[in-house]
Amino acid sequence: MSYYDYILVGSGIAGLYTALLAKEQGSVLIITKGNIDDCNTKHAQGGIAAPIGKNDSPELHFQDTIAAGDGLCDEDAVRILTNEAPDRIADLVNLEVPFDTMNGEIALTMEAAHSVPRILHAGGDATGEHIEVTLSKRVRSSRIEVLENFLATDILAEKDRVRGVRALDCRTGSAEEFECRSLILATGGGGQLFRFNTNSEIATGDGIALAFKTGAEIIDMEFFQFHPTALHIPGVAPFLISEAVRGEGGILRNAEGRRFMPDYTPEGELAPRDVVARSMLYEMQKTGSDHLFIDVTHLPVSVTTTRFPHIYRFCLEHGLDITRVQVPVAPAAHYMMGGIRVNHWGETNIAGLFATGEVACTGVHGANRLASNSMLEVLVFSRRIIEKTSRGAGTEAPVKKQGRELYHSLGQGQSTKDVPPPSLYGLQSLLWDKVGIIRSRETLTEAAGVLAAWQGSLPAATERPSYELNNMALTGRLMTEAALLREESRGAHFRSDFPEKSLEWKRHIIFTASQ
Ligand SMILES: Cc1cc2nc3c(=O)[nH]c(=O)nc-3n(C[C@H](O)[C@H](O)[C@H](O)COP(=O)(O)OP(=O)(O)OC[C@H]3O[C@@H](n4cnc5c(N)ncnc54)[C@H](O)[C@@H]3O)c2cc1C
Repeated sequence: MSYYDYILVGSGIAGLYTALLAKEQGSVLIITKGNIDDCNTKHAQGGIAAPIGKNDSPELHFQDTIAAGDGLCDEDAVRILTNEAPDRIADLVNLEVPFDTMNGEIALTMEAAHSVPRILHAGGDATGEHIEVTLSKRVRSSRIEVLENFLATDILAEKDRVRGVRALDCRTGSAEEFECRSLILATGGGGQLFRFNTNSEIATGDGIALAFKTGAEIIDMEFFQFHPTALHIPGVAPFLISEAVRGEGGILRNAEGRRFMPDYTPEGELAPRDVVARSMLYEMQKTGSDHLFIDVTHLPVSVTTTRFPHIYRFCLEHGLDITRVQVPVAPAAHYMMGGIRVNHWGETNIAGLFATGEVACTGVHGANRLASNSMLEVLVFSRRIIEKTSRGAGTEAPVKKQGRELYHSLGQGQSTKDVPPPSLYGLQSLLWDKVGIIRSRETLTEAAGVLAAWQGSLPAATERPSYELNNMALTGRLMTEAALLREESRGAHFRSDFPEKSLEWKRHIIFTASQ
């Protein structure tokens, strides 16, 4: 069996950036279930938030992040995020990520709920692609070993300490085991749990399921962000129309061409994502339509084509010249705020097991993520994992209990005859319809029952799709049960039967298998 100092599972920004830092400390293996660049990172458009502008400061970025998080951010984690941001951006510049510049300085743009322009971008709206390509080239030319088409299926643990990972070679169907000192999950989010989503097909919540089954704590799963503006063309997978489009002056209109956002909030199109997404849903219900429009026809053509070349081209390929016509859009599932609970050094409650990126919950996003803070979070907390492990730590289980936490376990899956047989489409539709932008006890109870039944009846996994479906059923259950427990509305979690925020619920819900 091969042994490495570090094994990274995943090859998005989290896996690649962490691997590049880890290689200075020892041997590194990356396991990834598709090709190296199959990930959400590649699709990121808007950019990375960092307080490097003249009128900006870590304090201002801190305040904006805390406001978006709606009472549930870990303030110490947010301080770390905003204080360490400029140095981590410098790291990316050193790695030669080609950020766009203006007059010789890094160009910064505005996004919703940021009080100043602070979003760095590359290739206009192709930031994620530039980051992924730059980092994967670096990895390829280093001594880091990369196994593509290897799906991590089990974490190997002994006496409360992780010793490695089992993976399925998706091309041959054989299982292999790999041992390591530090196992770092960088498996990304779970957008594919929802029928309409902006995510890559890899985003099936695998890391959550793997970690939960090993006894790791899973926190804040009820908070899933729905992006207001995904392109809505029947038969075409939702494609993100970046936040930055509204930041640059894009206007949301209903089917009659009327601007409606000021009817719902004085912040208009620049309100936080959950507010815009819900307002859009109400407006769609009111007008009996399954989509609305975003309008940039009033912007100078050169602004649209240079700031959003990727969006402009994609829409044009689908028959829409966005400089001349309004673009049909609808909300879609986008980002998982909750995840594997880690401390400020990326450590889980299990010795030797770390998590970073969208699969991890560091506490910086709270109940809602501020746009463009996710890739920044990856940079800041991945570096901290390597700082900690290079000092020989990572041998104890260090997540601190903070007092305002509710611990739960998940009941066994149950076999029931009354539910339809499990399928990917069935699961995605169930989550979208019952655990989506607006939830209630009724819809959540129904979803929880079906998911528990599916969990009890799914056959043992043998190949990638069946492993993913099993992982999605478990991850979906954690989301649904958490949403059912939280009897209030806060951040991205909205309950029609509990539409107000409650002081009593200023706390976190944690699931653990080892309760
Ligand atoms: C359309 C879109 C636009 C976005 N725009 C922005 C933005 O402008 N700014 C911003 O900050 N954030 C943005 N985000 C969010 C951000 O892109 C992601 O949160 C971030 O890229 C996640 O990085 P990651 O490395 O954690 O996960 P990913 O990039 O998704 O990578 C996950 C990796 O894990 C692998 N993997 C998963 N399961 C397994 C398994 N079982 N075995 C082996 N490998 C596995 C995958 O194959 C993949 O390589 C956007 C997201 C989307 C979808």
